[in-house]
Amino acid sequence: MHLYQSERLYFLIDEKKDGNQAASPGRELCSYQSKGGNGVEGFNYICPKSKQEALMMLAELGKKARIVAGCTNILPNIQAKKLTAGVLIDISRLDELKSIEAKEIVFLGSLVTVAQIAESSSINQAGGVLWQASQQFADPLVRNRATIGGNLANASPASDGAVPLLALNAEVVIESTRGTRNVSLPEFFVGPGKTTLADDELITGIAFPNASNWQGAFIKFGLRRSMAVSLASIGVVVDLDGRRIKDARIALGALAPTPMRALQTEHFLKQKDVDGDVIEKAAEIISAEVQPISDVRASKEYRSYLAGVLFKRALEKIIG
Ligand SMILES: Cc1cc2nc3c(=O)[nH]c(=O)nc-3n(C[C@H](O)[C@H](O)[C@H](O)COP(=O)(O)OP(=O)(O)OC[C@H]3O[C@@H](n4cnc5c(N)ncnc54)[C@H](O)[C@@H]3O)c2cc1C
Repeated sequence: MHLYQSERLYFLIDEKKDGNQAASPGRELCSYQSKGGNGVEGFNYICPKSKQEALMMLAELGKKARIVAGCTNILPNIQAKKLTAGVLIDISRLDELKSIEAKEIVFLGSLVTVAQIAESSSINQAGGVLWQASQQFADPLVRNRATIGGNLANASPASDGAVPLLALNAEVVIESTRGTRNVSLPEFFVGPGKTTLADDELITGIAFPNASNWQGAFIKFGLRRSMAVSLASIGVVVDLDGRRIKDARIALGALAPTPMRALQTEHFLKQKDVDGDVIEKAAEIISAEVQPISDVRASKEYRSYLAGVLFKRALEKIIG
């Protein structure tokens, strides 16, 4: 039996091989110790009843704890033995992290699923590029489980959540018992699978300015039509006055160690009237601006070329 104790919280985890009961005076915490044979031996499982309780558990357990939400990333990692022990804090029942609000600022609780986004007419209106990405994400089964917070915390360079959110200038809302901080996505991602999240921190939401006056397009290029990891992806939002681009934000996936903004291309496009020459020149800039790698799915040269092609397709989709 392990006792995890702090001034504000204490709970017990039964570590007997066949023990599945939590002892937790004054609290109703669920707890589970795997009996073995199901690939999750070595893990303790607890589910807090509130966000505050989750934050206290993270503060107490630090490195020993891993948050689990939809489990679509973490469970394959456990099964592949990339993660072999620890305390899994299951936040999936925390209703306070499941809301969508689309006002001047759009707010998504971190447990909002990709399916919720795909079904939301207010997200289609206020952040169409994210709504389009949700339609192209995995398949309906995965979309029902996958959360937007888990997608960002997983920090894949090919993340289909990060690319549209970067284009929407989103910030990640991060909480711990020490306080709350908002972090822009370019600051949040520090490398493949790496973020600025500290061990005691929880993503509680994602916020971005309402983009209902902007037009957007998301395009994902994979080796098949569904359930594909992006070879490259693009999210473009533009503020248009007729054919004049007043402002543009362009984000790219699988074309650098982290999802990236194409700042040089954005700068080139500002205050330009869109025509064939401008689009061609911008496509050249974007192909030179990306920093892809070669891997089993594509060479870096092909990915750079794709960046230009996807940019042209996205702009055609927006402008017609
Ligand atoms: C078959 C399949 C297809 C997929 N297709 C796609 C796809 O098309 N596009 C795509 O982008 N991804 C895809 N994924 C990856 C995955 O579904 C997404 O990244 C998903 O959004 C992860 O969310 P989750 O809630 O399942 O995260 P989990 O697996 O629960 O957690 C993932 C990571 O995030 C951490 N975490 C989760 N929530 C929080 C939080 N609130 N605060 C701090 N840390 C947190 C966990 O500790 C863990 O490290 C696919 C996965 C599978 C298995």
